[in-house]
Amino acid sequence: MNEIFVIGGGPGGVKLAQELRAIGFEGKIVLIEENLLGGECTNVGCIPSKTLYNFSKICYKIKKLTGKSFSFDTKLIVNTIRRVINMIRKGIELNLKNAEVEVINARAVIQGDKIFFNSSSYNFDCVAICTGSIPVTLGYKHDRILTNRELWGQMLEDFINALSKGAKVLIVGGGYIGLETACMFSNLFDGSQFIVVEKEKNILNTADDEIIQEIHKSITKNSPNINILTNCSVKDIQYGPNSLIVEYDISGEIFKDEFDFVLFSIGRKPNIPIQDLNKIEVNEFLEVKGMRNVWAIGDVIGGKLLAHKAEFQAKIASRNIIDKLQGKESRHRYTKTNELQIPSVMFTIPEVGWYGLTEKELKNMQVDFVSKKANIASNPRAIVDNSREGFVKILYNNRGEILGVHMIAENVSEIISVPMVYNSETIVYPHPTISEIFGELL
Ligand SMILES: Cc1cc2nc3c(=O)[nH]c(=O)nc-3n(C[C@H](O)[C@H](O)[C@H](O)COP(=O)(O)OP(=O)(O)OC[C@H]3O[C@@H](n4cnc5c(N)ncnc54)[C@H](O)[C@@H]3O)c2cc1C
Repeated sequence: MNEIFVIGGGPGGVKLAQELRAIGFEGKIVLIEENLLGGECTNVGCIPSKTLYNFSKICYKIKKLTGKSFSFDTKLIVNTIRRVINMIRKGIELNLKNAEVEVINARAVIQGDKIFFNSSSYNFDCVAICTGSIPVTLGYKHDRILTNRELWGQMLEDFINALSKGAKVLIVGGGYIGLETACMFSNLFDGSQFIVVEKEKNILNTADDEIIQEIHKSITKNSPNINILTNCSVKDIQYGPNSLIVEYDISGEIFKDEFDFVLFSIGRKPNIPIQDLNKIEVNEFLEVKGMRNVWAIGDVIGGKLLAHKAEFQAKIASRNIIDKLQGKESRHRYTKTNELQIPSVMFTIPEVGWYGLTEKELKNMQVDFVSKKANIASNPRAIVDNSREGFVKILYNNRGEILGVHMIAENVSEIISVPMVYNSETIVYPHPTISEIFGELL
């Protein structure tokens, strides 16, 4: 095997190509990307949204300290987002160049034992599918009905300008993307209104129940211009001359309301580049079932749809590819335990982070556990930062092993992985930091 094809240049594909080189593959690595390097994460996901989050947090903090609204020039926001995306994409291009990865701008499709791109077909020894996922909509098409792709892409400027004048936005889906989006924009534009509708009985429904309650309470308190409606699903959207008229069902009752924009964040479906296949299944070595020498990682194989999961799987798959290349059995596994160890993070105010199992899951599994919880309110850093909402909860089994960590407080996205590596006898937490709370619980 002296040539490896990587399809997709998002976090998964880029990391996989780099890892292959880093662990000693000397042959040709060809990365085929149909759109922009960086994928969903860099161009229309993690990076633009967290750049906006930075602006949003500043507004929130100033308003909390002074009681007065603060706003940024909309051009500054849009230009900063574009600049940050470009900077990160340039870094990716440079890293791939340094790793001597050949990048081809084309759409690739696998048919049988051949890969097709740029109107040619090639036999392959090894392919890694890293093609990500596509946002799900309910089939509505209108220039003010958006997914993350339009929002952070061609519509960003129009959307932000409309919000700066006061707009009414419906966000369909109360998962982490819908909630982050609502919080960020609502803090920046407090003259606009945001309704988040969630069809389940709770927002963020895979999180621990106490986290769900706390974040629901915090969002409602910190952002009076967000209204969260649960047990609520969209029935119909009509296109009026100046607005979108939405009919929704709240616990069996039908309501109608008018909006300037509707944002869909109701889930994603895999973006599969294999002819006549609509689901990719992999074994624990991340090799596609029923195919020879085809691996798949990241959003395209489902599970947690997060950039750091795609990158973690890239490390595992690259090693298995090299094992195969050297005629060895694949040795590196991605298991259910690994999936549980992938931290989920949500960049709301306050932030949420968790990994492992929730109390409800442990009860359903009839596992005995102990829950230790500490509130953030008395943490010195939280007091300094005037940000005392939240708590940290750690669930242990009777051998003292951690089964789940659930955090809600400012900046917890930075420290959620700490309990995975802690050694209680030697670890010292710097003062004053939120991480000191682990000293009480671990
Ligand atoms: C609004 C939003 C915010 C998010 N925020 C976060 C966050 O804060 N933290 C986090 O961890 N995750 C976040 N995510 C999720 C994260 O973006 C994804 O989990 C991550 O991008 C998945 O990486 P991937 O490499 O599997 O796929 P992608 O990033 O989707 O990359 C796949 C690439 O493959 C290309 N491609 C697809 N098909 C073909 C083909 N046939 N031929 C050639 N190229 C092809 C695509 O153009 C794309 O560039 C966010 C997502 C969204 C939508």
